[in-house]
Amino acid sequence: MQGLVQVLVQAPAHSGINGALSYLCEQALAHGTLVRVPLGKRETLGVVWNKASSNETGSLDVKKLKPVTAVLDCIPPLSDHWQQLVNFSAAYYQRSAGEIALAALPPQLRELSEQQLMRRLLRHPNKPSEVDDDDNRDLPRTLTNQQAEALTIIGSEAGPFLLFGTTGSGKTEVYLQSASQLLAREPQAQILVLVPEINLTPQLEARFTARFGTSAVACLHSGLTPAQRMKNWLAGHLGQARIMLGTRMAIFASLPNLRLIMVDEEHDASYKQQEGARYSARDLAVYRGHIEGAKVILGSATPSLESWHHSRSAAQGGRYRRLSMPDRIGTGGSLPTVRLVDMNHQPKDAVFSPPLLAAIKARVARHEQCLILLNRRGYAPVLRCSECDWKSECSYCTGYRVFHKIDRTLRCHHCGQTDRVPRTCPTCGSPDIRPLGRGTEKLEETLGELLASVQRPDGSPVRIARIDADTTRRKGTLATQMAQMHAGAVDILIGTQMIAKGHDFRQVSLVAAINSDAALFSSDFRAPERLFSLLMQAAGRSGRDASISQQSEMWVQTFYPVHPIFEALKAHDFDAFARLQLKERSQAGLPPFSFQALVRSEARDQASAQAFLLAASVRAKESAKVLGVTIYPAVPMTPQRVANVERAQMLIECLSRMALQRFLADWQEVLRAVRQSPEGKGLIRWAVDVDPLAI
Ligand code: ADP
Ligand code: ZN
Ligand code: ZN
Repeated sequence: MQGLVQVLVQAPAHSGINGALSYLCEQALAHGTLVRVPLGKRETLGVVWNKASSNETGSLDVKKLKPVTAVLDCIPPLSDHWQQLVNFSAAYYQRSAGEIALAALPPQLRELSEQQLMRRLLRHPNKPSEVDDDDNRDLPRTLTNQQAEALTIIGSEAGPFLLFGTTGSGKTEVYLQSASQLLAREPQAQILVLVPEINLTPQLEARFTARFGTSAVACLHSGLTPAQRMKNWLAGHLGQARIMLGTRMAIFASLPNLRLIMVDEEHDASYKQQEGARYSARDLAVYRGHIEGAKVILGSATPSLESWHHSRSAAQGGRYRRLSMPDRIGTGGSLPTVRLVDMNHQPKDAVFSPPLLAAIKARVARHEQCLILLNRRGYAPVLRCSECDWKSECSYCTGYRVFHKIDRTLRCHHCGQTDRVPRTCPTCGSPDIRPLGRGTEKLEETLGELLASVQRPDGSPVRIARIDADTTRRKGTLATQMAQMHAGAVDILIGTQMIAKGHDFRQVSLVAAINSDAALFSSDFRAPERLFSLLMQAAGRSGRDASISQQSEMWVQTFYPVHPIFEALKAHDFDAFARLQLKERSQAGLPPFSFQALVRSEARDQASAQAFLLAASVRAKESAKVLGVTIYPAVPMTPQRVANVERAQMLIECLSRMALQRFLADWQEVLRAVRQSPEGKGLIRWAVDVDPLAI
């Protein structure tokens, strides 16, 4: 007699298949078992799922059901906890469980035959790797008092912990020793370490493998080949890897013995997925720790204001335990001196103010390194005709195409549209077309000219390098460039925020932010938080070595030197900054004091994009009122048009997370119905973003 099983599959978004589908199977299958099932004309990978999460209604016509094609029982089933994580993420972020579950599995699972899978499995020893005591192993350091205290509390309390440690305070050593402490107690335990960027994985991976050995550490990120991803996923799933290290996608790694989760640079925006299921790996880490009984450590020198707020004292209602490490290691606690240059008092059009330039020259003469930060790549953000005022607009997007001098192209950073720079103005024919404004490429050129006559101590010319998305497009270039920087082969490194994060450059004694004023007046309420964090992180690259820490400096050129952000920066006072921001947010009823979601719509014209949102909001009025949810008017997104698609969004806000969740869950059906109605005509797609980072 054939039984029924529910199987979760990855169905196309428009199919309306949300949960599991029913199939026939002769044997009883445990939840979490991987299977292959027919779906339409294809055969697809699926996971046997708990019936409760199936959304099929009505009576099933068993005769129409198809049988499971194959059972991949050579691979142990995914755990109940893992299924719970998937179900929660799907419900919370308003996506289907099938989409989340299947995206979390290595693509090769779909492609390999059972025989091929068996062969892969044979290569895995299927026993926990041990942390062996190699003689060359990097030994634990003697902890500073601040590190030791943090470690003791992590060992004895339940958490979650917010490790609030200044840049260079030795957070990584705390991660490493928390891991060894746990493994000494529970040799089978597994540890998940999340890093914000793929570029930072090699660095941290090296430190973990140096301490625990290569066989104990596995990685998961989008830069792996399908075969590597399969191998590393299996190492986690089979309980073999002790430490799984990865970018946000690794939050869904199958780790049956998970006991500890660490999220490095927890404030980083890249923990939020920006397409498809827009989950926050940081927030899911806290949830996952809770359901699996794993401790969670969130680490940052500039925590997100959400985490900061959660880590207020327990008496005030805080849920996280804040562990502070205010002192930098080996520098007597000294942090770089912050120098603000009032650009109102500098020569007009000066890119580098004279005092900053002098400071840079002094560094070169002393054989120290400088980092120059500018958040805009390319040569110039706009090309303009001085005769008729033509500007290099993108014909498909709202915005200008950026001038890249190196290959004389105009490139749209939104849609990628690239053309050669015209010789004359396309409108009036004038040859007088000029770059307006400045990007990293032009900055490199300008600085080169300014320092043309400056020599290094050995008489050779100054070496300037640039790192941004343009220079690092080819695989491996970033690593090479970083290595040159570490080796001291570069005097001045110019770049976007890529260079401000996480790197332990030893010889940098000056960091300068050239022009970051735009963030002070952004309409996005998170812009000040991002700017402050960026500047603090950037300052953290300066003076990391004891020999230069005393003369290390962070320069900020600004037209608004008395802005409170800069006051707090000068004092390296994150607490003061956070207090100020949280007060404003509390007064304005913004997160973390309220909860938000965005509905975004895309259509050929703006009217259709907005009509869909409007209809959806009208139909939700009653439920919004009952639940205390505010629906704001639909507005165009910035940029409004990308690749010839018009975009609009609508903000939903509520003081209660639960009420917002209830509202969104009920609303899904309404949104789908509006999509099918006349108001949904012309719509290309819509999506909900829960806890959006950019409004
Ligand atoms: P963070 O992650 O907090 O910015 P790191 O973990 O990179 O800081 O540590 C900064 C530097 O201090 C590193 O070079 C690290 O090797 C060193 N370090 C960390 N802990 C100790 C310690 N207890 N004793 C000596 N050096 C340490
Ligand atoms: Zn013109
Ligand atoms: Zn474009």
